[in-house]
Amino acid sequence: MTSDAQKDISQIKPADLPAPPQTAARIVQACGDPEVGSTRLAKIVAADPVLTAEILRTVNSAFFGFKRKVTSAQDAVTVLGNRSLRSIALCFAVRDSVRPNAIPGLDMVSYWEDALRRGVAARLLGQKLKLDPEEAFTVGLLQDFGVLAMFFAKPEKASHWKTMRSMYPEERREREREIFGVTHDRIGLLLARTWALPEEIAVPIAYHHASSLAKVPLYLRQMCKIATAADWVCSVFGSPDKRKALDRVRAYLVKPPFSMSLKRVDDLLTSIPPAVEEVATTLGLRVEEQATFQEVLQDANRKLAQETMSYQELTWALEQALGEKERLAQELREANSRLEQLAYYDPLTNLANRRRFLEASLSEILRHSRSGKALSLIVLDLDHFKRINDSFGHPFGDAVLQAVARTMQRVHRTIDIKARIGGEEMCVLFPETDMDQGKRGAERLRVALENQDLSTPTHPVKVTASIGGVTWNGNVANPREAGKLLKKLMDTADAALYTAKNAGRNQVVWAENLVDSGES
Ligand code: GH3
Ligand code: MG
Ligand code: MG
Repeated sequence: MTSDAQKDISQIKPADLPAPPQTAARIVQACGDPEVGSTRLAKIVAADPVLTAEILRTVNSAFFGFKRKVTSAQDAVTVLGNRSLRSIALCFAVRDSVRPNAIPGLDMVSYWEDALRRGVAARLLGQKLKLDPEEAFTVGLLQDFGVLAMFFAKPEKASHWKTMRSMYPEERREREREIFGVTHDRIGLLLARTWALPEEIAVPIAYHHASSLAKVPLYLRQMCKIATAADWVCSVFGSPDKRKALDRVRAYLVKPPFSMSLKRVDDLLTSIPPAVEEVATTLGLRVEEQATFQEVLQDANRKLAQETMSYQELTWALEQALGEKERLAQELREANSRLEQLAYYDPLTNLANRRRFLEASLSEILRHSRSGKALSLIVLDLDHFKRINDSFGHPFGDAVLQAVARTMQRVHRTIDIKARIGGEEMCVLFPETDMDQGKRGAERLRVALENQDLSTPTHPVKVTASIGGVTWNGNVANPREAGKLLKKLMDTADAALYTAKNAGRNQVVWAENLVDSGES
């Protein structure tokens, strides 16, 4: 483990890390040495009267609550036993290894607040699992000491603490990797080795973030789990999103080895804040007044309500965005259809334009070529239209053209392709229409136009049209031939129109039936 950890420590060396004060270090060392008897140990403790007083105060405090009052170093050694004494001495060693102002710009109070929460949580969980509660407390207090040690070694990074502190345990560890190139569990292990801490404390420090405890000796696994749980308990009180931390704690503690009921979990959480305040006083650490678990719960629920509200807001925003998208899509469809309109339709009459008429007629020719059915085509030219313009003005002429177009739309079928192909020249292609039907259709239009009343209040106005028509019933092999045929059909209809004009206007003239192909 040691070599592994040291390989990873790219930036921070043991010499950069905090060192324990002499007496505490000696106590820890002596406790682990079977050769050192209780008298010798008591002497080592007594050599530091300040530390002795602190140990006695701790031992006699309500939180640590030993059965009887402890009055001397010798007494402490006897009552506590080596293991608990070592643990308590370690707490002071850790506390004193970093002076309150050792890391400029780092809020040490907030660090100790978190450490105490972990310590208190670990102690309660240690009691639950019938482990040495002092040792559990020390593990909790120490498990993240690597964080402080990293800032101690790299004080220029102190500004990161504030945001790191509010992160969940795993996120924070990732952040440490980014900032320091190493994580606190690794540095914690390095410290534990440097300080010659016992395995019972070193291993949980090294493994409290591990995804697997397979490498951890069985007798130390529960303490590792206690440390992991303590981290999340701390998050319940320290993180901005307490709800998530609370969910994690509950999910973790209802499972083995804890197997606690939700009620017991809440009881444990309730007991954390007062214990933190008490232990802080005992250990001579200053912490802020602690929010009660009830207040934390209220905060979490309020946050949940806010989230629910912001969820509603989000839904609303999404609906708006979708509405906006729909509106944009609609605008796009409209723009496209306007473009199509521009490309295919005559803006004055809304009839198809010349281009559209030619395209549509070509495909109709090819289609009829396959079906063998006849189609008919008429060309229409208004009679003496110039006079209308001259008499009533060009705008009136325009209105007449629009009226003619409306009549065409009314008289002919939807499938008939009605177009304005020139100034006052219109065309209609009648699909699946033989000569008789075509002639009847053309005549219907002529009569409708003749009967159209376009009179102004002061002038009677009549518009008539001359119409030339043609019917085709044949075969073309390809679009090129269809194109040629179309031109021929239009020329033929035009010639018929010319005949109609010459014959006195306001009449339909039909060309000879065209049954041959476009090539002839
Ligand atoms: P006819 O065809 O019977 O021989 O006589 P006409 O008066 O219609 O003769 P011609 O085809 O020479 O004149 C077409 C007139 O149509 C000329 C022009 O002023 C008018 N015209 C063409 N396009 C438009 C238009 O878009 N709006 C209006 N108001 N008039 C147009
Ligand atoms: Mg004309
Ligand atoms: Mg004309």
